[in-house]
Amino acid sequence: MAPQTWTKSTFTLNTGAKIPAIGLGTWQSKPNEVREAVKSALLAGYRHIDTALAYGNENEVGQGIKDSGVPREEIWITTKLDNPWHKRVEEGIESSLKSLGVDYIDLYLMHWPCSTDPEDLKKHIPGWDFKDTWAEMQKLPASGRVKNIGVSNFAIKNLEKLFADERTKITPAVNQIELHPNNPSPKLIDYCKEKGIHATAYSCLGSTDSPLAKDKTLFAIAEAKGKTPQQVLLMWGLQRGTSVIPKSVTASRIQANYELDGWELTDEEMEKLNALPDRFKVCGDAWLPIKVFFGDDE
Ligand code: NDP
Repeated sequence: MAPQTWTKSTFTLNTGAKIPAIGLGTWQSKPNEVREAVKSALLAGYRHIDTALAYGNENEVGQGIKDSGVPREEIWITTKLDNPWHKRVEEGIESSLKSLGVDYIDLYLMHWPCSTDPEDLKKHIPGWDFKDTWAEMQKLPASGRVKNIGVSNFAIKNLEKLFADERTKITPAVNQIELHPNNPSPKLIDYCKEKGIHATAYSCLGSTDSPLAKDKTLFAIAEAKGKTPQQVLLMWGLQRGTSVIPKSVTASRIQANYELDGWELTDEEMEKLNALPDRFKVCGDAWLPIKVFFGDDE
């Protein structure tokens, strides 16, 4: 069988919507760089852009989309509700739509299962949590402004709490989580699969100054295939059935990260990457007022 054409591939969500397998990440992409990065990505063929209110760059992401000339309906836009906005879901979505300059969002995620008090970012809102936020988010698709809703950084324990709440009527379409060979989370991925939740891999290259960039096994595989280590990491994510959203503000890297058609990793290469012994996590929960990771296969 011929290898998959990943740049044209999508994953079908539990709503029937199709999320493009490869997207451009924009965390830490500065407003003055991201406009050009988004335009470059769309002109290179990307059709999926990942941003968030918390990244402070939705405005410039929106400008990059317009600069590209690619019609809105051909692009998948994901953005996220920020923690201090959990009690203000309506305001959150309106703010994102306005900043991005669009009239709908393809996927709106609860960024973290943590309802931070906007008056004091060190505190959790008393008497409110992510289950209340989800109850509010469930109202959004009916308005047409949001096509799909999902979550991010949800561990198994919190997904179970969400499903146990009698107000939960909509299963999240996506759980966007940290996934790379040094944080592979197979149990969490299996749990999501069982519940019909698609997993998107964030920090899929290991993020800025990635320790994976020095991994000898990864290097040997990349060299043998004539690919970059980053291309191999993205292929590993895709072949596991997760969408990938590599971030770059460098045009040549944006292009290279999209060269994923016509080749694949063998079962043996996948196994070698699955067996990398090192572990690290880019995004922990120490900065949040509550714990959200419980060691249940983060
Ligand atoms: P990535 O794993 O995508 O790595 C980004 C880093 O890798 C940047 O420093 C980038 O540099 C560099 N890079 C990109 N391509 C290459 C390449 N081909 N060769 C060498 N270096 C390269 O990190 P992120 O943590 O940004 O994760 C990706 C996206 O996931 C985010 O941007 C965001 O959209 C999302 N995310 C979501 C989170 C959540 O809580 N839901 C948390 C974290 C991320 P440069 O830009 O300088 O080219």
